[in-house]
Parts: sequence; C-alpha cells; structure tokens
Amino acid sequence: MDKISIIVSCYNEEKALPLFYEEIEKVKNKDFQDVEFEYIFVNDGSSDKTLDIIKKLSEKDNKIKYISFSKNFGKESAMYAGLEASTGDYVTLMDADLQDPPSLLRKMYDIIKNDGYDCVGTRRVTRKGEPPIRSFFARIFYKLINKMSKVEMVDGARDYRLMTKQMKDAIISMKEYNRYSKGLFSFVGFNTKWIEYENIERVAGETKWSFWKLFKYAIEGITAFSTVPLILASAIGIIFCLISFLMIIVIIVKTLILGDETNGWPSLVCIIFMVSGIQLFSIGIIGQYLAKTYLEVKKRPIYIIKEKNF
Ligand code: UDP
Ligand code: MG
Repeated sequence: MDKISIIVSCYNEEKALPLFYEEIEKVKNKDFQDVEFEYIFVNDGSSDKTLDIIKKLSEKDNKIKYISFSKNFGKESAMYAGLEASTGDYVTLMDADLQDPPSLLRKMYDIIKNDGYDCVGTRRVTRKGEPPIRSFFARIFYKLINKMSKVEMVDGARDYRLMTKQMKDAIISMKEYNRYSKGLFSFVGFNTKWIEYENIERVAGETKWSFWKLFKYAIEGITAFSTVPLILASAIGIIFCLISFLMIIVIIVKTLILGDETNGWPSLVCIIFMVSGIQLFSIGIIGQYLAKTYLEVKKRPIYIIKEKNF
C-alpha cells in the first residue's frame, strides 16, 4: 500500500487546526481507503495553544507525528523539517488554514500515479479576498523574477503540492539556509503538472504574512535565484563612467576655446547627488548578496527541535 506524508506547518493555528484535521480525515476516509496516511504537524514556535491541540490529536490518532520548534523559524524551516521527517512514498505540503483544499488530493495522487508526473502543483488563478495592493506587488514580483532568473517561478503557485519521494529527497539535499521553496521546487526539475483553482479564504485565524514580511521574502527569492541585480549595478557603473568620460572631453575642449567660466554649480550639485545615490543603491545590492553569503557560511541550523513524538 502507498503511503502519503502530509506535512502541515502551524504557527498560531489553534482556531484552524481542529477544522483542518476534521476536513483531511474526511478526505482520507472518503477518497483514500487504498492509501496509508502519515501526518506531520510542525509547530513553528506558536505562542497559543497550537501545540496542545496537536498533542491531543496525536494521542487519539497514531498516524500523527509532530515536531515542535524551540521558537518561530518561519514557514520555510517548518516545511524543511517536515520533509526531512517524512517517510511516505509521496509527500504533500499543506497550510493549516484550509486554503489548500484537501479535496484536490485524490486528483493529484491519480495524476502522479497514472500520468507519469513526479509532482503535481497547485496554483491560484484568482487572488480574490486579498488586498489589491498585495496582488499588485505580487504580479510585479513574478514579472521581475521571471525576467531575472533562469528558474521559472509560476505566478500564483502555492507551496501545496504532491511529489514523489525522489523529488523530496532532491529538495532536502539542498541545505541552504536562505530558503525560497518556490524556486527550489522549480530548480530540482522533474515533471510538474499544474492544477488550477480559485482562491479560498482561510477558515479561521489570521494571516501570518504582513506586507513587510512578504517584501523581505520577495528579496529572498530574488537574491537566492538571480544575480542579475549585481550585473545591473555594474552596468549602471559602466554607463556612468562613459558619460563622465564624454563630459570631461567636452569640458576640456570648451575651456580651451571659450576660457574658464564658473557657472553651472546647480547642475553640478544635481549630478553629484544622482551619482552618489546610484553608488549607494549599488552598494546596497552588493550588500544584500554579501549578507546572504554571510548567513550561509555560518551554517546555522535551519530549525531547532524542542520536542517531537517519534
Ligand atoms: N506559517 C508557519 N510559520 C510562520 C508563518 C506561517 O508555519 O512563521 C504557516 C501557517 O501556520 C500556515 C501557513 O504557514 O499554515 C501559511 O500561512 P498564512 O495562512 O498565514 O499565509 P497566507 O496564506 O496568508 O499567505
Ligand atoms: Mg493562508
């Protein structure tokens, strides 16, 4: 019998978790009588009763494994810990808020089983129920990153996906500290089929992603999968060198012909401001990459476990 590992990262999900468990069990009993399940709940340093709820569930149901972190490490770390702990032939990643409909799972499983895919991913075709400003920046981000990176990032793709053990092993073999899973999934290759669905709002609780958190995550994605910003910084530098070279020649010739005149201070100040602005901007870009490298070479653990039941 095949076994599917279901990894659920939970951060302050006391309201959503019982609803999630109820729903996934329904799907299990209805569509998956021929398949074994394994749940891996990863408590990502919640400050509410999430861990107690997970523990209670695991006492009733021996399919449940749990891992509890020593603090909040972020969803990427939680997913990584879950992937490492999973033992199934197939692995799926789900949110606890039911925004990733468990009812799609059978369809995903059948596609992998019958059509020879290694992975079935899901993507939202609408962003209904999301603040318009957030959708706007998300669209810009995907346009930008797809221009800058060879690794394809699918707009609206969720982390919710079912994949083979082989693909999971490829993903956990990438032990980088700054993790951007959407890129990692794409980077490892394998055949992925996308299925689309309309956005669903979370059943209970609140989103953990503020605009600022998303912004930082976007920078993460860009620095992790593209070095184009660095090339851009050098390109701007070269262009400005060329312009200044031309200007020097023009000024020398003009002085020789017309003599020295001390006007033009305002334009000079403007140029100084602009060029130093561009310099700072470029140093900032380099700084971003340096910072990521710095964190990477320290080889800090991606997560730290406080307790688990296996
Ligand atoms: N999550 C997590 N650690 C975090 C933030 C979020 O494990 O630091 C989990 C959260 O519990 C949920 C999933 O990641 O199961 C997605 O989070 P959320 O629903 O808040 O994000 P959104 O769907 O709004 O993008
Ligand atoms: Mg959500």
